[in-house]
Amino acid sequence: MSHTLLVLPGDGIGPEIVRQGVKLFACLASEFRLDLHIEEALLGGAAVDACGSPLPAETLALAREADAILLGAVGGPQYDGLAREQRPERGLLALRAELQLFANLRPALLFPQLAAASTLKAEVVSGLDILIVRELTGGIYFGQPRGIETLAGGERRGFNTLVYRESEIERIAHSAFATAQRRQRRLCSVDKANVLEVSELWRETVQRVAEDYPGVELTHMYVDNAAMQLVRAPKQFDVIVTGNMFGDILSDCAAMLTGSIGMLPSASLDAGNKGLYEPIHGSAPDIAGQDQANPLATLLSIAMLLRYSLDEGALADAVETAVGDVLEAGYRTADIHTPGTRLVGCEAMGDALVDALRARRR
Ligand code: NAD
Repeated sequence: MSHTLLVLPGDGIGPEIVRQGVKLFACLASEFRLDLHIEEALLGGAAVDACGSPLPAETLALAREADAILLGAVGGPQYDGLAREQRPERGLLALRAELQLFANLRPALLFPQLAAASTLKAEVVSGLDILIVRELTGGIYFGQPRGIETLAGGERRGFNTLVYRESEIERIAHSAFATAQRRQRRLCSVDKANVLEVSELWRETVQRVAEDYPGVELTHMYVDNAAMQLVRAPKQFDVIVTGNMFGDILSDCAAMLTGSIGMLPSASLDAGNKGLYEPIHGSAPDIAGQDQANPLATLLSIAMLLRYSLDEGALADAVETAVGDVLEAGYRTADIHTPGTRLVGCEAMGDALVDALRARRR
């Protein structure tokens, strides 16, 4: 079966890390007989420079047709002065909204070779492998009414609305249960049901969806406790599901458990598991074009792409294992470099990963 993939290099380090991804796709096609058709398009600042829009119509059309999308990163200081609608980040937000990518999957996985890179004690984080499923297109970030108004007397009042419809909760719950089924079959739903009516509905709805997944153990936790547990004993979790704002905050907290932003992938999926895959970091303008960027978050995003959009779980495992092999062999980009390991650039790290994957095949 042939798969159409769209690559969006974007800005800053985006083109160099995505180039390593394209190398990996080429290896998967030639050595593992994956039938891939790859298109490339502009997004973000690169698209503004070329045609004046951060999400050109042609890019959106290709994105709609693709089975999965790999993105580098967008943005950079040269675009900060642009009108809001022309900012690179608007292109990415519009793409997520247009494709209805409502389920954001963010794993926090610590490779044992990098345990020393975490700010937490090695025994707290070694072996860490958790996944946060964040609702991405609803909740307080999108709820109406919203605004800042001036009251009689001149004082101003700011307001936002935290709102979830049952159907929105149901679809993210289904994504989370399905994800947990592929892992250790434990799902923790995080809310604030002791205070918020929205959370009461969230909890009731998640409980109802759970009846469709008898093999998955469901627990509930209040968000304040979840924040504490993530730094106290993060390994108690397998999959966490939560709303947009709670997920935004908790997933950044979980990411830091693993030490380096250059190691963490993400996926944003629609109801049919079509997805946009990207490293969680930005365009790192401070190191762009210097062959210093760590491409592993991008390459691990491809592992997620294989698992969730192409249903190639064994190949996804092989890519993740190859990342472990490369780290075990001592290869390190500058962000994860420690004394006694071998400092390499972005290109060399990409080559090492492809070699390690080939070596596993032999
Ligand atoms: P950033 O993630 O780009 O960089 C933060 C720090 O981490 C920098 O020191 C950078 O050098 C380092 N870093 C990031 N990725 C790395 C990698 N792969 N290897 C080695 N080091 C890496 O965050 P920022 O500096 O706040 O943002 C820079 C630009 O990126 C901004 O324009 C911002 O809007 C944009 N941004 C885009 C996305 C996205 O495309 N999804 C996400 C976040 C930020």
